[in-house]
Amino acid sequence: MFEISRCLYCRKKDSSNEVNTSILVNGELKQMQTVSCSDECADKIQEFAEFNNISSKNFVKIGIAGIIFFLFLIALNTVGFQVDIFPFIIIFFGAVFLLYPLATWGFYKRIGIKYMTIIVRVLAILLIVLGVLRLI
Ligand SMILES: [Zn+2]
Repeated sequence: MFEISRCLYCRKKDSSNEVNTSILVNGELKQMQTVSCSDECADKIQEFAEFNNISSKNFVKIGIAGIIFFLFLIALNTVGFQVDIFPFIIIFFGAVFLLYPLATWGFYKRIGIKYMTIIVRVLAILLIVLGVLRLI
């Protein structure tokens, strides 16, 4: 399988530097064996795994807090308080994904941590811009 020989960070082909790390998947710490093209990318993979393990918990908490807050605003709107909530929702989730550019492991394996992080950040900025444009 060609997938295995690509660097998990930068997607460089024929990577053979073995990397062992542990990542949090659905709340469970799992051992992950992957490859990198260089020591530099191996460090980036370890850094990312640590960031993922710490921030995925916060990401879920902030996401749930946001959903509860917006449900509260929707409830207020039904009793006559008129606010266009949509721009705030997309700005909020844009900001969350900008802070925590997290995707699923399927995407990281296919696209590489480096590019997937860039894609998530670009989409997050787009959401914020769209939200702001709707407000003005
Ligand atoms: Zn690499």
